[in-house]
Amino acid sequence: MSMNKFMHPRNIYKTPPNFKELAIKYPEFRKHSKQELSGKTTIDFKDPAALRALTTTLLLKDFNLTVEIPLNRLVPTLPLRLNYLLWIEDLIVASKLGVSREIHGIDIGTGASCIYPLLAAKTKGWRMLATEIDEESVGCAQRNVLANDLGHEIEVKRVDADVILNGVIDEGKQYTFTMCNPPFYGSEKDVITSDNRSSNRKPPSNSPTGSMGELVVDGGEVNFIRNMISDSEALGTRVSLYTTMVGHKSNVNLLKGEIAAAGACNYGSYEFCQGRTTRWGLAWTFKDSVKTMVDGLVANKKSKLKPPFSYVLPKGGDDEAYSLETVVESLKEIINRLELQCKEVKRTKVMHGFTVTAWRNTWSKQRHKRRVAQGKSKEEAGEEAGGRGQGPEAQGEDGCEPLAVSNPEGSKDSSSSPPNKRPRLETELPVDSGSGSRGGAELQSSSRGDTFVMDKGGLPLLKASLVVKCVSSDIILEMAWLEGLSGRDAVHQVLQFFKNNLKL
Ligand code: SAH
Repeated sequence: MSMNKFMHPRNIYKTPPNFKELAIKYPEFRKHSKQELSGKTTIDFKDPAALRALTTTLLLKDFNLTVEIPLNRLVPTLPLRLNYLLWIEDLIVASKLGVSREIHGIDIGTGASCIYPLLAAKTKGWRMLATEIDEESVGCAQRNVLANDLGHEIEVKRVDADVILNGVIDEGKQYTFTMCNPPFYGSEKDVITSDNRSSNRKPPSNSPTGSMGELVVDGGEVNFIRNMISDSEALGTRVSLYTTMVGHKSNVNLLKGEIAAAGACNYGSYEFCQGRTTRWGLAWTFKDSVKTMVDGLVANKKSKLKPPFSYVLPKGGDDEAYSLETVVESLKEIINRLELQCKEVKRTKVMHGFTVTAWRNTWSKQRHKRRVAQGKSKEEAGEEAGGRGQGPEAQGEDGCEPLAVSNPEGSKDSSSSPPNKRPRLETELPVDSGSGSRGGAELQSSSRGDTFVMDKGGLPLLKASLVVKCVSSDIILEMAWLEGLSGRDAVHQVLQFFKNNLKL
């Protein structure tokens, strides 16, 4: 089954291009094409020059763009580039950002091809600011802009390597969105050994292209995107919608946690499916009105993102105890008791953000101990549940009192099942290669009673973001599920545990 069916619905390459026609009409493409015994016209996907001929030919044929791409730089593949742009377009439309306003985007790391700004300006009429650190790529990108007469729409700016967004944005200017295809790797070694997909997946059919400078950055994509998130936090609503591509699946939820902790109003992700490669899009915003998820997109239906569970701490009368610091201290004590791993990701005067990870279910055990201490027999507990006519769902797994935490979408969630495995693609089109990893360890777990024991490198039972924040005079706890075998219900249970044990 072809994965092309998961491409964005408006992606013109859902129907693969006809290589025979391309070879007949375009001499440059013909030079790199060959005819198989079966009569099928093909190219050598391991040859960067052939890949470049395919991309430049399609840019000319389908978008009337003449593009120079040096062979020592990344050759962009178009299905992925279009998937990303179309998703941004969906978010802009859903958020009504283009109504009576010009769309002005920023492409961070535009590369020599300047591919995103060229496509955005040519096909959508958007204005674009393109940044790049590599001098040779900047020169080439500028030539591409001029060759296509898009100098009014696109500005290419050389920036220093330690700059992502801060210092790029003109004072007082408002931007619609940012986008970025970041360097995915932390080292050259990672690039070389990147093809660590599970053995049942075919490697990408095309050869890797691009210089090490384009593919590698200190700390890999996580560090790069972390800096982007931090810059976005400083810029806030000056940009309506922040987006980035993510190359490794295992980083998606991790980064979502950081986005949540940075205080974004909304955030969401989307899968870009093309060829044998999947990439991910992350979107976040500091504007309430801006949407980061689009209804009706196939991949979004599979998204694991749901709004966080939240709980407003009741005021107990002791005003001094009702402070952020006291609540955080008390929470840390409970977190220790539950043996959760806890990492502080963000701290301001009005909020503390953490990620918490559980490798086994310690909260239900506590409940069990409590029950034992209360001298309740198992039968009694069963009777109690049955007597109220509520199953474990209604009561929460630990049979706590009815739920007082709120979650707009309810606590039950079918997406807690193992990650959806996509079918493999027999591709006609080349796909981005090099970053290879599908990310995330294989799911391997065993259970002993109610305690999961995880293999090293596997998924935890639960990983969630935890935000404690002051809003007006209230203190609010927010927990969002990031990943884990237990599914989202565990977040609800842990938050319930916090609620029952917080002593103010
Ligand atoms: N956008 C292009 C190129 C992506 S490769 C495409 O999709 O094909 C990543 C690019 O980011 C490289 O060209 C690299 O030189 C550039 N880059 C790395 N760090 C950067 C930074 N801090 N600011 C801007 N560009 C950066």
